[in-house]
Amino acid sequence: MLQKNTTKQAGQKPAQKNHTKGHANFGCPYAKKCGGCRYQNMSYQEQLFSKEKQVRALLSGFGSVKPIVGMEEPFHYRHKVHAVFGYQKGKGVVSGVYREGTHDIVDVEHCLIEQENADSIIRDIKELVRSFKIKTYNEDTGYGLFRHVLIRCGYATGQYMVVLVLASPILPSKNNFVKALLKKHPEITTVVLNVNDKRTSMVLGEREIVLYGPGYIEDEILGKTFRISASSFYQVNPVQTQKLYKEAIDVCNLTGTETVIDAYCGTGTIGMIAADYAKEVIGVELNQKAVKDAIVNARKNRVKNITFYEADAGKFMVQMAEQGAKADVVIMDPPRSGSDEAFLSSVCKLAPAKIAYISCNPVTQARDIKYLVKHGYVMKQARAFDLFPFTEHVESVALLVKK
Ligand code: SAH
Repeated sequence: MLQKNTTKQAGQKPAQKNHTKGHANFGCPYAKKCGGCRYQNMSYQEQLFSKEKQVRALLSGFGSVKPIVGMEEPFHYRHKVHAVFGYQKGKGVVSGVYREGTHDIVDVEHCLIEQENADSIIRDIKELVRSFKIKTYNEDTGYGLFRHVLIRCGYATGQYMVVLVLASPILPSKNNFVKALLKKHPEITTVVLNVNDKRTSMVLGEREIVLYGPGYIEDEILGKTFRISASSFYQVNPVQTQKLYKEAIDVCNLTGTETVIDAYCGTGTIGMIAADYAKEVIGVELNQKAVKDAIVNARKNRVKNITFYEADAGKFMVQMAEQGAKADVVIMDPPRSGSDEAFLSSVCKLAPAKIAYISCNPVTQARDIKYLVKHGYVMKQARAFDLFPFTEHVESVALLVKK
């Protein structure tokens, strides 16, 4: 099995940091305006307690809920950092977040939960936008060019991707701009220009032009390497992701003989790690680009016992069930909306011995577990993981076994 990780759990002594004890003043000057960190006024122990309580309230009716797994150091964990760019009278070019429910930009220089070097890159890009006299985009009028910056960092590899989101594909003095940026930050391994010419609140547009490097970065989790593109889903908190994935695979107790389905597999992360402990893995994912990345990832990691399908997970499972296919274990990791009845009823038909259900929304998870419990499964255990300190979000992993 995988190596044991030491984890901090609620109820244990908090990390030896003054700022995580008692009633918190985390000193974030943007807290009121930004609104991103709703748990700003709680100590870290209180945050963990509150998240565990929420998961307990939703899942303990089905089976045992274990203590939450929190972070040793709950700051600067976000390895995907986004900043919206704009112009303010008096200040000039600003970058940061929209004040909740408005198009007013809060000019953020340092964020307590974002990777620090990513913030430093964004500050320097802001300087470059000023000195190159590039017009920022105005959400209200639709005029201007420079819209957003997205930074993705590889935790294990130290690689950095910079995505410049512009309203048009033409960035004046583009080569000099990139050159100046790389001079300040030689750690940047790729720069991508993303074109978003729509009046939308979505950050990324469809079209991508690679300005420097390969157009993607790589990261490693539990011994496997993963390619991350600008738009592909990849967990933003690498430290906690390792613990989450390890739990999802550990609870399945794989022996090397099982057929495992990795449903909602994204770029194949969980399935690829599980493949070392199973006979074969079948990954299913709706997003075409993610499936392409997954196939590249499998090849790169020389994982031969994994196959990916681009399909709606529900429809795919219905087909598998109709064809009388067999699966011993289903690992599922659906989006916030949870799974659907097509998927769940087909899982029950396929009747795997175990289901590991990973969720970023315990409300929909509880709804889906209720269905599974009604149709022949028992929830053996569940555990919450804090992947998003200071925010209200929580992840959880539940193990269900066939009665
Ligand atoms: N397991 C992956 C991804 C989890 S995020 C990881 O840990 O990285 C949820 C994934 O479900 C996303 O990649 C999304 O594209 C995919 N998805 C959403 N709806 C889907 C559906 N109906 N069928 C299959 N995949 C879906």
